[in-house]
Amino acid sequence: MLYPNYGRIAAKLATSCNLPPENTGADATRYVNRMTDRQHNDGMFLTVSSLSESVFWEIRDDNTAQGRPGMNQTGRQGIIDFHAHAFPDALAARAIAHLETQGKIKAFLDGRIDSLLASMHASGIQCAVVCSIATKPDQFASILNWSRQIASREIVPLPSIHPKGHDPVGKARLVEQAGLPGIKLHPYYQDFELDDPDLFYFFRVLEHMGLLVVCHTGFDLAFPRDRKADPLRIVRLLDKVPDLKLVTTHLGAWEDWNEVERHLLGKPVLMDISMSLEILGPQRAREMLMAHPSDCVLFGTDSPWSSQAETLRLVRELNLGSERERALLYENARALLAPYFEKLQHSR
Ligand SMILES: [Zn+2]
Repeated sequence: MLYPNYGRIAAKLATSCNLPPENTGADATRYVNRMTDRQHNDGMFLTVSSLSESVFWEIRDDNTAQGRPGMNQTGRQGIIDFHAHAFPDALAARAIAHLETQGKIKAFLDGRIDSLLASMHASGIQCAVVCSIATKPDQFASILNWSRQIASREIVPLPSIHPKGHDPVGKARLVEQAGLPGIKLHPYYQDFELDDPDLFYFFRVLEHMGLLVVCHTGFDLAFPRDRKADPLRIVRLLDKVPDLKLVTTHLGAWEDWNEVERHLLGKPVLMDISMSLEILGPQRAREMLMAHPSDCVLFGTDSPWSSQAETLRLVRELNLGSERERALLYENARALLAPYFEKLQHSR
């Protein structure tokens, strides 16, 4: 099989393998096939691995996996960023400027999907979960629409439902029907408390549907320090809705890590690590990660609010051990997203 659309990759391969440029599509494909056949034990693998890892996987994915996103079959590690943000091109500049002012921080990217993809490619990340936040209930339809458009093997969109808006349950059904894996909630922007009994029915519906709920937890730098989604509220919610696929963010609760240690650590509570290693420092971050079940931690960067490459470097410097690191960077996320990838494959 040829992959003529992979001209850019093929050209890179051809250059580094000293091939005639006119035949790059075919040659690149042949090389990938050879790598696959030989289990990359020969010199060709060395040549290819000296290219950017993401280029390598782009070809591998298409060549061998046929729609197995973020996936490589080489025994080497793929990487999924479970917490990133981006905006439609027309809104990105305004949204980033507004959020920079509100949070008094500087974005690393301009907020467009293409910029996120470029950052992923540069840092060897194969797949990113893009979290949207509906700050008003009526934003649901446009966010869902955009999410459907950007859904791919590399970009996994989580639309957002305002839990206090009209018919959140009906909206959850639309998310499910769109083949998307879950939703993003933000208790500060959406002004709710995570364990509000009025929301239990909604959460039970999400639990029943098996939709992921990635929820901002802990404090937020753009808001006063009210306890809207702290570890105790997380525990209370999970007591009531125990099978909810809740992904807490920022290592359980941003800047509330004493409470995380007290109430969450060691329990089967999913956490992404975005915006935590930078603040906690390597020693405490490592202690916390080692004390938590290895199948409950997810790599996340909160891009564009941090650098993906830098967060990845911080993770690797923790020396968590190859199994734990692999679970964090890839396997746990891959397992949670498996139904999405399957639906995506069948919808083609
Ligand atoms: Zn975020």
